[in-house]
Amino acid sequence: MDTPSAKQLLGLDDAHVVRLSPEAVLGTVSLHPAAAEAFLTLRSEAARDGFDLRVVSGFRSFERQLLIWNAKARGERSLLDADERELDASSLSAEACVLAILRWSALPGASRHHWGSDFDVVDAAALAPGVAPSLCVAEFAAGGMFARLGQWLEERLDRAPDACFFRPYDGTGNGVAREPWHLSYAPLSARCEARFDPAQLRDLLASSGLALGETVDVLLEELIARFAQVDAARYPPTWRRLRAGLALA
Ligand SMILES: [Zn+2]
Repeated sequence: MDTPSAKQLLGLDDAHVVRLSPEAVLGTVSLHPAAAEAFLTLRSEAARDGFDLRVVSGFRSFERQLLIWNAKARGERSLLDADERELDASSLSAEACVLAILRWSALPGASRHHWGSDFDVVDAAALAPGVAPSLCVAEFAAGGMFARLGQWLEERLDRAPDACFFRPYDGTGNGVAREPWHLSYAPLSARCEARFDPAQLRDLLASSGLALGETVDVLLEELIARFAQVDAARYPPTWRRLRAGLALA
């Protein structure tokens, strides 16, 4: 499998991803070919259990993540607390604002969505006509429209130690909120994560026009540890050696 280049890992180049066919997505979505192929297998399995599993967000560029970040930092886009209630960005210190953004949005250059291995899913069969999914925890909780999908993913992924997909954001272990819709293709993401280089990220952010950039620079190592890295122990057992930068046994 081709591992993305250093530029691709930072979201600066998209030559490592391919467009998914329209029936497998909502909107326009690209993924790494290996992740795309594995997703189509998972989608077929889901279809047998009555789901119309679709990717709503896959590859995202550095530029796109930077727009999201800057809009939140400048109060142009809503900033949510852990319970998905709106915060007033102007009332927060720079550090509190950075931490609040990171709960729901990745630092540009440090998003797993840059890699082509990670994506967000919904069950299109559970969507009422004309209703767009908002990807909030309530949709996947009991009574929510994707509750049944959440249950299925728990059985298929979380309780299957040899699964090739896992859900890195379960609300424990790091500072990111629970994102039950976010799947990661471990054979690729383990390689990407092992190659991630904080020094290159620091250089990139210094020249990118990142809002709150000085605060991010001071805190960068802590932010990477708390919000960007997913420990090897949280990967499915089969892929832990790869995540640790070792060859597969
Ligand atoms: Zn995601």
